[in-house]
Amino acid sequence: MPRIIVKFGGTSVADTARIEKAADKVVAEIKRGNQVGVVVSAMAGVTNELLDYCAQIQSGLDSTDYDAVVASGEQITAGLMALALQKRGFKSKSYMGWQVPIITNGQHGRARIDDIPPDILNDAMNEGVIPVVAGFQGITKEGRITTLGRGGSDTTAVALAAALKADRCDIYTDVDGVYTTDPRMVPNAQKLALITYEEMLEMAALGAKVLHPRSVELAMAWNVPLQVLSSFEPSIGSDLPGTQVVREEDIVEKQIVNGVTYARHEAKVTLMSVPDKPGIAAAIFAPLGKAGVNVDMIIQNISPDGQSTDMTFTIPRGDTALVESLIKDLPDIEGGEIRMDSNVSKISVVGIGMSSHSGVATTMFSTLAERGINIRAITTSEIKISVLIAEEYTELAVRALHTAFALDKDVA
Ligand code: ASP
Ligand code: MG
Repeated sequence: MPRIIVKFGGTSVADTARIEKAADKVVAEIKRGNQVGVVVSAMAGVTNELLDYCAQIQSGLDSTDYDAVVASGEQITAGLMALALQKRGFKSKSYMGWQVPIITNGQHGRARIDDIPPDILNDAMNEGVIPVVAGFQGITKEGRITTLGRGGSDTTAVALAAALKADRCDIYTDVDGVYTTDPRMVPNAQKLALITYEEMLEMAALGAKVLHPRSVELAMAWNVPLQVLSSFEPSIGSDLPGTQVVREEDIVEKQIVNGVTYARHEAKVTLMSVPDKPGIAAAIFAPLGKAGVNVDMIIQNISPDGQSTDMTFTIPRGDTALVESLIKDLPDIEGGEIRMDSNVSKISVVGIGMSSHSGVATTMFSTLAERGINIRAITTSEIKISVLIAEEYTELAVRALHTAFALDKDVA
């Protein structure tokens, strides 16, 4: 019997009426002859409310009891979903992370799953029980409750699908799939039927917030076929109405560019006239790495005089004050001027076919040039090209690139 893990996000379980609708989908899958395990998020808004309670007591506490509070939202929905399934005449049981158990490391607030012994859930499923597992939460070896980071229920679902050797993991959400770009910005954006894990990872990291990036990493590592679909549409996952995230080998026609993404959450830092000598990059970036600052694009100019050079890089916007203070303290760059620019936006094109095609960069750069958009920094990987531009051109750039790479939906 095919086994499916289905996960319902916060908007899909936002109230009891929606929980009942979600339960109907689970029932429809079972009637199709599938064995189903369910993972749920907290009701929409609840996790934020719980975080707010913690902040009211004290902010910035690194405490295990913070996790005890924020994990509780999922307990409510897991219980309610089990009740809704029982009401429909099925055997169902809720499971908290500790009851499975979902064993994680001890990094509270952003724990990683180490192990999921499958026996308890396997036995339940083989007895005809529909397990409903609380997403987002786990337990350490020492027996303390952990959470997996915001959006972490996706990761619970994929990890369970891997542990239980499921045939597919369906992530029900409030959008009907993954799009070529943000449909709110570009009305001609198209839903992708298929996308590779690699592309999805890039798009998730670059700001397409449909899936928790860690869940995609896990799906890729364990070869879990993943589908993103809407819980508000009448169809169920087995009809494959959403976007399927699969291995490269499973896609016959590889698109050169599958998506255009944008991220407004970065800032550009330029260090003027730093000494041009061995060790300078290490001296600048080591303290940033140690402080956990995620540096993305890095550009070092040549030095015309062989003495000093300019170094430009990007950081998350929220880290500007931290970075400024770390750099000011560096003896090596003393006297050099620091320029911070938060008015930037990172635009990327992503596509698995890019690795075997030339000309993508040229198309990207000339498209932006034709619109008079200046590129301030560039980075590339096998399947992605990113540029940094002035923030006010974000929309123009995304639209122009979406058209240039022939991603616009045909409008009849
Ligand atoms: N409830 C958690 C959050 O809001 C986890 C999740 O929904 O995936 O981040
Ligand atoms: Mg989510």
